Amino acid sequence: MAYIEPAPIKDRANPFESMMSRFNIAAEALGLDEQIYNVLKSPSKQVSVSLPITMDDGSIKVFEGHRVVHSNILGPSKGGVRYAMDVHLDEVKALAAWMTWKCAVVDIPYGGAKGGIKCNPREMSAGEMERLTRAYTQAMLDVFGPDRDIPAPDMGTGPREMAWMMDEYSRAHGTTVNSMVTGKPLVLGGSLGRAEATGRGVMVSALASMEKSRINPYHATIAVQGFGNVGSFAALLLEERGCTVVAVSDITGAYYNEKGINIHEAIKYRDTNNGTLEGFDGADKMDDPEELLFLEVDVLVPAAVEDVINQNNVEKIRAKMIVEGANGPTSAEADNIINSKGILVAPDILANAGGVTVSYFEWVQNRLGYKWTRERVNRRSDRIMKDAFDKVYETSQKHSCPLRIAAYIVAIDKVAETYKFRGGF
Ligand code: GLU
Repeated sequence: MAYIEPAPIKDRANPFESMMSRFNIAAEALGLDEQIYNVLKSPSKQVSVSLPITMDDGSIKVFEGHRVVHSNILGPSKGGVRYAMDVHLDEVKALAAWMTWKCAVVDIPYGGAKGGIKCNPREMSAGEMERLTRAYTQAMLDVFGPDRDIPAPDMGTGPREMAWMMDEYSRAHGTTVNSMVTGKPLVLGGSLGRAEATGRGVMVSALASMEKSRINPYHATIAVQGFGNVGSFAALLLEERGCTVVAVSDITGAYYNEKGINIHEAIKYRDTNNGTLEGFDGADKMDDPEELLFLEVDVLVPAAVEDVINQNNVEKIRAKMIVEGANGPTSAEADNIINSKGILVAPDILANAGGVTVSYFEWVQNRLGYKWTRERVNRRSDRIMKDAFDKVYETSQKHSCPLRIAAYIVAIDKVAETYKFRGGF
């Protein structure tokens, strides 16, 4: 969860344009064929629906929902469904394209998609959420499918919503189809290791980044913005690897402890305190939560929403490296300043790809009708993340470019190559 309320849409960089400006640089570096450029720059399908839902008080409220499939050239499209008040089509389009690049970077056989419903899950009852989720699934019956488009959790959604999606889809098809969605509860065919997968991939990317910068994890300090599923597991796993997590934040504020925050305790506290760190006594609350971003730490992990590092605050960043747990936490305008400051950035489409990687394992297990051990899941996802990091790093050396552009180059190259073989109409 973010502690910084997202800026109103009109003040924020358009996320689709942010994505495109990096895409354009990578396309140029690759010498991408103009025809393929034209195919990849726009999503292959966009579906927007109005969902009338009966609220608990008997009134009917209409919600706006979207599903954007950016590409399915590498395989069925894959990506989460976000429930938030600032969901809008441009954001969903950008997030869908990011999923295409993310799946290609880690070399899993998926295209990219994303969904979203404009709603405030914090203000809705479980019954309202269930009706909304089922209505959305009904509206997307022709889009979703284990070989077509596979949803997963994102901000504001989790295993509970995935279970409703699976159930609704299965009812419509008269048979249980658990491979139509990932991030499910374990008992419905969820994978061991999926809950912590994104945070775990962030940890692997952070350690690989430290290795390249010759920073000893045992001496490294970390600040994590966002203490939801991604941020809290990333903090916990980095702490377990010997790092000192000096600051974490959530919607209630930022918490600092120079000697290191006991993340295990912080998670325990959050889980028994309405999901927030308010009142946590293992750290001091910072006066201004945004200051967390400007701490002089070895690694800054933005793990909340888009655009938290932007042209208005980028000059103040003092971290040696940034490992992007969130999707799009750095605006495109901030990239140049970050690069000129020599800050190493493990970009979102690489660093947070651990989640979709284990989603892929979940889908594979569902299709095999088999269950892997947590060790097998972790070992395989760690290897995929490390291999992807090494490939992106090598590409950045070859093209003398930042890791972000290198990640786009790796991804676009793979998708473009596939297009060439498959051909068009
Ligand atoms: N929503 C997550 C992401 O942005 C996971 C997507 C998935 O597992 O399909 O990467």
